[in-house]
Formats: sequence, C-alpha cells, structure tokens
Amino acid sequence: AFINFDDILNFWARARPDDTALEQEGRTTSYSQLEENTRRIIALMAANGVTKGDRVAWLGKNSDLYCQLYLASARVGVVMVPVGWRLAPPEIAYILKDTGAKIVFTGEDFTETAAKIASELPANPIVMGEAQTRRAIAATEPGEHERVGDDEPVLQLYTSGTTGNPKGVMLSNANLLGLRNPGNEAGLEWNFYEGGECMLVAMPCSHIGGTGLVNIAIVNGIRTLIQAEFTPVGVLEAIENGATHMFIVPAALQMVVQHPRAVETDFSALKYLMYGAAPMPLELLKEAVRTMPNAGFLQAYGMTETSGTISILPPADHTLEGNQRMRSAGKAVPGAEIQVRGPDNKEVPLGEIGEVCVKSPSNTAGYWQLPDATRETIDADGWLHTGDAAIMDEDGYIYIQDRIKDMIISGGENVYPAEVENAIFGHPAVAEVAVIGVPSEQWGEEVKACVVCKPGHNVEAGDIIAYARERVAAFKAPKSVDVIAEMPRNPSGKILRRQLREPYWAGQE
Ligand code: ATP
Ligand code: MG
Repeated sequence: AFINFDDILNFWARARPDDTALEQEGRTTSYSQLEENTRRIIALMAANGVTKGDRVAWLGKNSDLYCQLYLASARVGVVMVPVGWRLAPPEIAYILKDTGAKIVFTGEDFTETAAKIASELPANPIVMGEAQTRRAIAATEPGEHERVGDDEPVLQLYTSGTTGNPKGVMLSNANLLGLRNPGNEAGLEWNFYEGGECMLVAMPCSHIGGTGLVNIAIVNGIRTLIQAEFTPVGVLEAIENGATHMFIVPAALQMVVQHPRAVETDFSALKYLMYGAAPMPLELLKEAVRTMPNAGFLQAYGMTETSGTISILPPADHTLEGNQRMRSAGKAVPGAEIQVRGPDNKEVPLGEIGEVCVKSPSNTAGYWQLPDATRETIDADGWLHTGDAAIMDEDGYIYIQDRIKDMIISGGENVYPAEVENAIFGHPAVAEVAVIGVPSEQWGEEVKACVVCKPGHNVEAGDIIAYARERVAAFKAPKSVDVIAEMPRNPSGKILRRQLREPYWAGQE
C-alpha cells in the first residue's frame, strides 16, 4: 500500500508517464513532468533555505502551480500551508504569523497583499509571485532528496473557523493516504477503474475538500481538472467537457442545480458526485438527484482533523422512493472506526444521541502549537472527538444531528438546528435558512429562524412558523423569524450561526 507521495509520484511517472496529472485552463502537466517538477521545486526551496520541518504558504486561488508546490512539500517534509484567499488581510496575517512560513508563494493577483502582510511579520518571509515561481522552477535542476518519514507533517490546513478561531491541523503522508489507497477506494465507492476518469477540483484547496481531492486523484493516477474558484457555470461546463468525479458543498450544489443553464446541461459524463462538509437539506438533495439522474451520489462526512472523509453514504442509498437512509451520512469507510459516545466517553446505545468519535490512521497528530486544544480533541486512547452530535443505527449508519456547540436547549428540550432548517428549507419562498437559539426568559433559549427569501418572494413570520409546526415537534419550531438579505457564510460555504447569534447574546453570555 502507498502511504507516501514520494512513492506515488515515482510509481505513476513510470506506469503512466504521458497521462495528464494536472490540467488547468488548457495547461497540462503529465505524471512524468509532475515527478520531475516536484524535484525541481524541492531543489528551489532548498536553495532558499527551506528544508524538512520548515513551513511555506500558498496565498492564491486553486492552481496547478499550488498542486505541484504541495506535492513537492509532501515528498520531502516541508509543511505546506494553503491560506484561504477569501480571508480578510488580518485573518491572512494571523495564519501566516501562526505558521512562521519562510516562503509565501502567491497566485496571480495576490502578490501585493502577501508582500504587504509579509513585511510586518517577524519571520520576514520571502514572497514569490506566480510567474516568478514558474520561471524559477523551469530554471532549477532537479536534484536528489531524502524521502520524508510517513508520520512527519507535510500539510497544515486551518479548520474552517465555523465555531471559533481557525486551528492549524498538522497532517502527514500516512494521515492523508492511510484511507485513500487505490485498494480502499472501492470502500469509498468512487470506482476509478474504467479509464478516462477526471476529477474536478472546484472547492478551495485551503480546505480538505480541495487539497484532499487532489490527493485522491493523484494516488489513483487519474487526471485532475483544477478550477481557480467555484462558479456554477464553471462546474456545468466542466461536466459537459468530461469531468467524471467531483466533490461539492451543499451551498455550491444549490447554485449549480438552480442555475438557469442547468436545464440545458448534459450531465451524462458525470459518474460520481460527492457532497458534504455541511448538513445537506433533503429537498435540495432530491432536486440534485433528479437533475443528474445518471450520477452516483455519495455523501461524505469528515473534518480537517480526520484528513476529510471518514464516513460515506453510497449511491445505492440515494434512491428517491421510500428511502430512510438518504438523511444519513453513511457508515465508516474501511480502515476507520466510528463510535457515538456520551459525556462519560462510553458508547451510547444504538439509536441514542451522542458525540461522533473517530479512530483512524487519517486522524491528525494534533493542532499546531495548541497542546490544550489537542488534548481536548484526541483522548488518551487515540479517539478523536469531533464535536458533532449523531445517532447510529443497527447497521452502523450515522445520522448527524448538528454540532454539539450549536445545540439549542429550549425549555429543557434539546433542539438541533439542522433538523429544523431541513424542515423550513422546503418552504417555496425560502432560499436559505439558519436556525439559532436566542435568550428567552420563559424557555432559557428559544428557537429563531433566519431566512433569506428567493428572488421576488416575500414571507411572513407566521407562515414560516406554521410551516415548521406541521413538520417538526412544537418545541423545535421557531418562536420568531428574521428575514435577512444575505446569509453569513465562511469561505467554505458554511453558515456562521455564531455571527447570527451575536446581536442577541451581546452582554448575556
Ligand atoms: P472549526 O473547526 O474551525 O469550527 P469546521 O469544523 O467547520 O470549523 P472543517 O474541518 O472544515 O471545519 O469542517 C468539519 C465539520 O463540518 C464537521 O465537524 C461537521 O460539523 C461538518 N460536516 C462535515 N461533513 C458533514 C456532513 N456530511 N453533514 C453534516 N455536517 C458535516
Ligand atoms: Mg471543526
């Protein structure tokens, strides 16, 4: 089994030298070029004083250049930190300072921002723009290098920052590849063995849903089609041009499915559509399945700390009629164990709610420079506590309720926002919905729904409340509704409920 990119790149350079490894805007890199270019990059970094254990950063949109820089790092043990380009300058500065990166590689249009931030950082990093880096790679002779140990960190991804400050998650080759071997992909139901596979990478590489997808494509020796950033039209065009596999978050899938061009798009090339990273509204999922009837749908549940996917709901569980499983996030992939545990750190009985805990070779060894957060997350037996609440059924399928932190306790009853959001999402005037708890003298907390209307629609609070009451228990239905213009989301498309809660809780917590 492969658990090191150094072996993988050597293997495919021999087995599939001329096959395309990376493609972006018509520019292609073959597997033999990828193997050679990554050795050039290793030599280039060494010439700039960067070797094993040092950190380098990427500030830019998704790029074939980023992929090569990252894979070079993964061969030799430099730690690559891809920074979200949608972040505000102080947030970028926070991450660059936290990592102490020695080089900041930048994509087109980000060199100036990076230079300004870098000049104020204690580590005083070198900033290398895209054109300059490409020229330097071409001009550097590939050399010899020492293969990094399987367990040493090579990638540092920051969590999405949905619940607080983003945390740097250190990941090694063994973490990134432990569950992702070709032999194990059958367990993931991706089926890469028919030939002509093409993985579309449209989600940001600053998250595991982007870089993790590059990993899966490269370990399987297939073509990776990189898009600088997600646009619904870009995805529709990629599918018409032969993308066979992709991953997408629910908010992005909604834009694709509801785009006017979707009706005239030929989706027949798309074999597998994986979705996850945030709760998927059931109505949206059904609409997507109807729009792309030939695609195999896969739900993935996981987190940065588990190197991505830890459970899968396979295509067979996506039938539209009489299917109870479609709400599930599936079951543990081969090689990973999932338990649902109570506050006493023991498994709760099947069917009861508890915290999802994971034991897997893909689990991070810990957060960068946050020993307390690491100890709180990974227990002495190596089980990682996800902070997500779920129920497990007798077949090992998990049903994610929500984040434990987002749970609303109203009149002593536990309310999980995702369930209520799911109910309200079906309302014909509702484009987006988030459910939060706000202070209440009577109930401690009470349920509030924040909704964004579909263009040209309006909605009355009483209407939403009545609609919810028909679908969920009365104590779960909202007591009040705010109609808002825009949903606050982080760059990975997740709703920032803490931002919605803030004005109500100011001075209370
Ligand atoms: P932070 O840890 O900084 O608060 P985050 O948890 O959103 O941010 P990620 O590691 O990107 O950062 O996301 C992992 C989380 O995403 C999971 O813990 C879970 O709450 C949510 N998630 C992932 N997949 C699914 C899914 N299929 N269904 C519901 N929620 C999901
Ligand atoms: Mg998290």
